[in-house]
Amino acid sequence: MNKHSFTPSRLKLARKRRGMTLVKLEQVSGISTRTLSDYENGREQLTTAALETLARALEMPVAFLTAEEIEEIPLEAVSFRAPSKLTAGQRDTALAAARMAIMVNEWMEERFRLPAPDVPSLPGRDPEWAAERVRALWNLGVAPIGNMVHLLEMHGVRVFSLAEECLEVDAFSFYWKGTPYVILNTRKSGERGRFDGAHELAHLVLHPQHEIPHGREAEQQAQQFASALLMPATAVLAKRLNNATVDRVLAAKSVWKVSAMALTYRLHELNLVTEWGYRALSTNLSRMGYRREEPGGIKRESSQLMTKVFAALRAEGVSHTQIADALHITAEEMNKHVFGLTPTPLRGGAQTTAPVSPSLRLVR
Ligand SMILES: [Zn+2]
Repeated sequence: MNKHSFTPSRLKLARKRRGMTLVKLEQVSGISTRTLSDYENGREQLTTAALETLARALEMPVAFLTAEEIEEIPLEAVSFRAPSKLTAGQRDTALAAARMAIMVNEWMEERFRLPAPDVPSLPGRDPEWAAERVRALWNLGVAPIGNMVHLLEMHGVRVFSLAEECLEVDAFSFYWKGTPYVILNTRKSGERGRFDGAHELAHLVLHPQHEIPHGREAEQQAQQFASALLMPATAVLAKRLNNATVDRVLAAKSVWKVSAMALTYRLHELNLVTEWGYRALSTNLSRMGYRREEPGGIKRESSQLMTKVFAALRAEGVSHTQIADALHITAEEMNKHVFGLTPTPLRGGAQTTAPVSPSLRLVR
């Protein structure tokens, strides 16, 4: 039989990306789990026919399975929230999706000079202090943050969207070869997306160790940092929100583009409302639907960096299908990681991506 060279690590990654166990892949491909396991461990060569069968079953181009070796992201390096609540399969799928995002980023980095990482490392510091420090280092003063994703990107954090197959996983972050990554869940409200971005920045700043602490304490620190970063104490105090009513909270939340609940929590943290007042506000907001959703909320933020990169490539005549080809993935797969910024062309070839701002500062 005709043997074909392939890359075991890629076969494993593709299977995890599809959220499949070996048993599931056996059902889809008709190849026994034992043989599949031998393939993944490099104990057995594939026939050309088996390679094609697997590519089809995994909905990946054959080229993906035969390209260079690929290293997985170690679980310990990732800031999964409540990792114990996730199944191993959910974690693997999210890690595999993040690995795809790294591929997209590395491809961009080979062609563009992207912002260098500029995230301070402040392990063990008080979260409120650390948030003020980051604001000072990034020259933000106490002004509201216009766009959290753009801010992260300007400081060298690569921000990608979490593919829809793994939305039960919250946002997460990690360092990969010195580059900080944040992967955002796009199913949440715009306000919560911003808070998630600030929360993941907290992990990068406060927990830059190789092994991220996953406990309740680390999560509380990240929440406190995010709260202080988005709503600086001085600015909130200046708004005179003492004993604020629901109406005042709803009016004021748009200043910092945060959820009504996040602002209420911050007011309590800064002792601007009493314990009783805090509970009353939370109950009322909850009744109005503000616990899970953000009625009348803002639009979700997206990547400025990738909008510019794709526009620059388009100007050079490089289509996103060509980029996907170079990465040995489908255009559809790529689009899931890049906030849907490279939609597969509509009939008639219409482009629907946002226009580029004239200041192409991020890309050269
Ligand atoms: Zn966290």
